[in-house]
Amino acid sequence: MTFDALPDLTRYDAVLFDLDGVLTPTAEVHMHAWHEMFDELFAAWGISPEYTERDYFEHLDGKKRYDGVASLLWSRDVEVPWGEPGDGPELDTVCGIGNRKNAVFERVLRSEGIAPYPGSLALLDQLAAAGTPVAVVSSSKNAREVLTAAGIIDRFPVIMDGVIAERDHLASKPAPDVFVEAAKMMGVDPVTSAAVEDALSGVRSAASGGFGLVVGVDRGVGADVLTEAGAHIVVSDLAEFVAGAGDGEE
Ligand SMILES: [Mg+2]
Repeated sequence: MTFDALPDLTRYDAVLFDLDGVLTPTAEVHMHAWHEMFDELFAAWGISPEYTERDYFEHLDGKKRYDGVASLLWSRDVEVPWGEPGDGPELDTVCGIGNRKNAVFERVLRSEGIAPYPGSLALLDQLAAAGTPVAVVSSSKNAREVLTAAGIIDRFPVIMDGVIAERDHLASKPAPDVFVEAAKMMGVDPVTSAAVEDALSGVRSAASGGFGLVVGVDRGVGADVLTEAGAHIVVSDLAEFVAGAGDGEE
């Protein structure tokens, strides 16, 4: 594909970005944290088959934390009480287990920090220079913490995250609610805006929200399935959108 084939994102009224796996490689930190937490839980409870990376993509990726926990446990015929978001990480409820994973995640984020993908940063610079409004639409309750650790929180006047979604009772991706609500907060129409996602649930969310352009970023889930889920185009890195990033050759 030539660079000429990709649309100019500065021509959209706004560009709404997923965070984990799109702006920052947080997905890896999340994957490690889930793996560590579920390995321990499955061993303690005698649950089989063991947790694998496939479980992450099928049940957890891009979903709200507690919905993901319930979905994964259900796949192993395990059901526990939902509990409350304030449940401590020691409680064996859906919320307690989700919070247990979050404690592992925060520990890793604090100790190792996080850098945005260089290609994503270059695209944000280009959009800022053109005056194109940008927003973050993340299911994560850690979005602000991650954006702060990555040094890019000041670039986003609108941040739709797991905290706001819960407060406002917005349905989790793949429902369109969070993307549509973020567009509303920005005062733009989804039809003339672009959304950028790396997860199947996120692509489905933006596509069903009626976004004029849904960009899939293939960080491992697969270009074919992202397209099937509703992505209009799929790239492997956002640097592909940046003018001057290449000379247009294949
Ligand atoms: Mg993501």
